[in-house]
Amino acid sequence: MGEYRLCLGAYAYLTAFSPTRASLVLIHANAKPEETERRWVTFLKQEKLDYHIEENFLLEHISGTAYPHHVGNILLVGAAGGFMESFLGFGTVSSLRSGVLAARAIKGNRCFTKLADKLDQEMRRSVRLREIINTMENKDYDRLVATATFPIIKQLFYNTNFPVLKYAGDILELVRASVNWEKKSILPAKRSK
Ligand SMILES: Cc1cc2nc3c(=O)[nH]c(=O)nc-3n(C[C@H](O)[C@H](O)[C@H](O)COP(=O)(O)OP(=O)(O)OC[C@H]3O[C@@H](n4cnc5c(N)ncnc54)[C@H](O)[C@@H]3O)c2cc1C
Repeated sequence: MGEYRLCLGAYAYLTAFSPTRASLVLIHANAKPEETERRWVTFLKQEKLDYHIEENFLLEHISGTAYPHHVGNILLVGAAGGFMESFLGFGTVSSLRSGVLAARAIKGNRCFTKLADKLDQEMRRSVRLREIINTMENKDYDRLVATATFPIIKQLFYNTNFPVLKYAGDILELVRASVNWEKKSILPAKRSK
């Protein structure tokens, strides 16, 4: 992702719709709107992206979690239930999965929160991933790419059913250099007892 100043809590992706049209997204955790505008301009300049822009928008994206996932006879699914993974801010699949679990809970008269426990764990794991990614600098990304493309690792990722995301936190810990974890955290600072 280019220069250091864009790392630490920021990432970008380009999703192509056709050979000539795409959506270019820059995400920045915990940033104020004016700060994000500035970073957007820097990002375009730095990466030399002088595309013709048809539409531009800035969106505040707030997410959180909910526990338990039901209040009386209301079942909280999708974004309302906190089923959005923090790693990349994606939530369509986990939202659908929470909806299926809610339907099963209703049909079988079972506890939705218990049924959603595994999905909840996945969401928590993704917070940890995001935390680690937020502390990564260019040299950590270089190490990550080098590690991921190492033949044995590549074989494990692509040709086996190894649950990559389950262990991704531990893998990332290995490639990350020593940084101030608390300073870069997206989660509120832990209260001292
Ligand atoms: C900019 C952005 C990019 C994203 N990119 C991706 C991506 O690439 N991949 C991915 O998987 N996820 C992505 N997500 C996350 C994904 O959009 C959400 O996780 C997902 O849409 C959640 O689905 P949902 O049905 O729970 O909630 P929503 O999609 O938010 O649907 C809730 C609906 O309820 C309506 N509503 C709210 N209040 C009321 C009310 N009182 N009465 C009636 N209707 C109401 C809202 O208008 C809305 O239509 C992105 C999110 C954002 C903001």
